[in-house]
Amino acid sequence: MSDGLLSPEELVAHAAGKGVRVLALTDHDEVSGLARARAAAEQHDISFINGVEISVTWKKRTLHVVGLRVDAQNAALLTAFKEVREGRDGRARQIAEGLAKAGIAGAYEGAKEIAGNSVMTRSHFAQFIVKQGHAKNIKTVFKKYMVKGKPGYVNHEWMSLEQALTLIRDSGGVAVLAHPGRYDLGFVNMHLLLNEFRNLGGAAIEVVTGSHQPPQYDQFAKLAHRFDLKASQGSDYHGPGLSYMEMGRLPALPSGCVPVWQDWPEASRLQ
Ligand code: AMP
Ligand code: MN
Repeated sequence: MSDGLLSPEELVAHAAGKGVRVLALTDHDEVSGLARARAAAEQHDISFINGVEISVTWKKRTLHVVGLRVDAQNAALLTAFKEVREGRDGRARQIAEGLAKAGIAGAYEGAKEIAGNSVMTRSHFAQFIVKQGHAKNIKTVFKKYMVKGKPGYVNHEWMSLEQALTLIRDSGGVAVLAHPGRYDLGFVNMHLLLNEFRNLGGAAIEVVTGSHQPPQYDQFAKLAHRFDLKASQGSDYHGPGLSYMEMGRLPALPSGCVPVWQDWPEASRLQ
């Protein structure tokens, strides 16, 4: 329901076909797909875990925090995401203005049409730009148009790390720092972040993910251990042609990692 290509039902069917037995859906700033995905998971005998991926601004950088086991009906969560959705719409208009100056007209309407009922993300703009023939694929679009310093990039202020962790905790969830290897932080800031994340109640970091290169698995396994954080794993699957990694294909967590799901009955099939 955010930037994936498949509907919740299609996604779950795809996961089943790949042999996935335990699945979390983690849309960006959005929980409206969870009930549909859960119902589909029951049909396919997949254990389902509610999830969400919250956008956060920390030291002027965008980070993503995954909330697992959140209550999709939690009022504070729904109110916060409604605000984020409105903020994303304003941001989308600014992105379109930037792209117009770079010679790409009609991007707001074009991306909106691709997004349908989903929240507006950079992925929708990227798909529109490819469709218009301004770039050959999504990767090139991001490089040329959608990252810092490029015409379609907008410096948006997301919620704070503390707000995100409070929302996750108060809705019964567990906070996981998503793909830490993707942030351009450097040694000192990475250590500051992990320390702050844990002190604010964060439980785990993603160690093995489709957004990490294999050498980063061990690097973040060590950091998890050092900061007394558990480890998580995720494909970051977005649909055919829009993903680094197919579902159900990642290696297991390195030995010594404590899986964030270790005491969860719904994940007992992973032990
Ligand atoms: P947004 O939350 O609107 O900034 O959009 C985030 C989406 O853009 C996520 O699905 C990311 O996976 C995707 N994304 C971010 N950077 C890149 C990149 N360099 N190449 C491809 N996709 C990206
Ligand atoms: Mn995404």
